[in-house]
Amino acid sequence: MTFKELDLSNQLQYAIDDLGFENPTPIQEQAFSVVRSGKDVVGIAQTGTGKTLAYMLPILRDLKFSKQQHPRILILVPTRELVLQVVEQIEQISKYINTRVLGVYGGTNINTQKQSILQGQDIIVATPGRLYDLALSNALKMKSIQKLVIDEVDVMLDLGFRFQLMNIFDVIPERRQNILFSATMTEDVDALIDDFFKNPEKISVAVSGTPLDNIEQVSYNIPNFFTKVNLLHHLLKDKKTFNKVLIFVGFKRTADLLFKHLEEVFNDEMCVIHSNKTQNYRIRSIRQFDEGKNRILLATDVMARGLDFDEVSHVINFDTPDFPENYMHRIGRTGRAEKAGKTILFSTEKEQEVKVGIETLMNYEIPVLELPEEVEVATMLTEDERPREDQGISKNRTSLEYVPGPAFHEKSEKNSQVNRGGSYRREIAKKYKKPKTRGDKNYNKHNKKK
Ligand code: ADP
Ligand code: MG
Repeated sequence: MTFKELDLSNQLQYAIDDLGFENPTPIQEQAFSVVRSGKDVVGIAQTGTGKTLAYMLPILRDLKFSKQQHPRILILVPTRELVLQVVEQIEQISKYINTRVLGVYGGTNINTQKQSILQGQDIIVATPGRLYDLALSNALKMKSIQKLVIDEVDVMLDLGFRFQLMNIFDVIPERRQNILFSATMTEDVDALIDDFFKNPEKISVAVSGTPLDNIEQVSYNIPNFFTKVNLLHHLLKDKKTFNKVLIFVGFKRTADLLFKHLEEVFNDEMCVIHSNKTQNYRIRSIRQFDEGKNRILLATDVMARGLDFDEVSHVINFDTPDFPENYMHRIGRTGRAEKAGKTILFSTEKEQEVKVGIETLMNYEIPVLELPEEVEVATMLTEDERPREDQGISKNRTSLEYVPGPAFHEKSEKNSQVNRGGSYRREIAKKYKKPKTRGDKNYNKHNKKK
């Protein structure tokens, strides 16, 4: 099918031509008439298959020019970075139409956003928290919302967001079209649909959890954190092959620790993003990575959810995600728009179980590669790897990343700066270079006591 057969308006077609897109992706093709029908819609398609335009094209097709102040379309996404990307996509595609679109998210001045709202908007793209604050303060009137889009709906139902979504449902008109999109489906999403939506039409381009053929997957079995670090050093040395690398870790704590062990060698080519970094730092890091100024971006799951980067050469899973869906979202940052992509999974013995979970979801066994000979097997263990009694780490996929509320968002730039240098770093660097002979003092002490 071509875009010509989709019955786009001329203005949308011109914008598509400018973007150089030839044919609609399967989800775009299938969602178009269903979204236009006004029925509730649930769309499932793999990452990187153009879901944003799958809901935006039909919405813009039918959005009549209006001077009214209050918005008619509300799009909810989980992160501020995604707000920016979705706004950008809408601006590109509505280049020849008079559409007013505004992105709102926390961590920035709410009064500036109120001013922009006053000027009148058609489409609001928002994170749930800030949206709700704006609605409560009456700055944003929700009574004219006709269509609600929830993008990345499964992550939106994780802790914190669920509550905010319920609040938002309460303040938007009951008579509206609900449009949900995601690459993965969970039971929570099913429950939400049952509770709130009217006979939604499901469009499923692939069974939830189907990986894309154009992403080549491999894995390594690695004994521990520091051997993973050694392997990473080994791989990243090859700048030609590993020319745009997104590294994922599950927790910001791991991100900071890993960053410390990479920055000595890769400092100039590397950025790290997680929820404790300031908004400015995050936006800058993402831009620098996307434009190719930085070769390496280290990110947590939630931070990079749904983001669209141009031609990522490799996605490296430094740890194996507990939730198989997160693996799908991680690897989906490469191989976008049918380009070839590569992904590498690092798993320890402990992580084998969750790895099997991922393979079961995908119905695909990830090939295992031998650890290259040059890679030194480390004996030093991290604090987390040492045996201990209190294993009460929360299993929730976002609880450590997302703590809603202003205190959490408004970190000062100073507080969240990466600590470069200092004695700690030297100490770690020293240790790390000689793990074999020295072992880990603390670890030895700990074992002796037992
Ligand atoms: P998803 O939300 O499914 O992960 P996105 O909507 O972010 O995917 O789109 C992924 C990439 O594909 C974007 O860079 C987008 O510009 C591009 N894209 C979208 N539709 C098409 C199309 N019909 N042809 C080619 N590229 C497309
Ligand atoms: Mg998306």
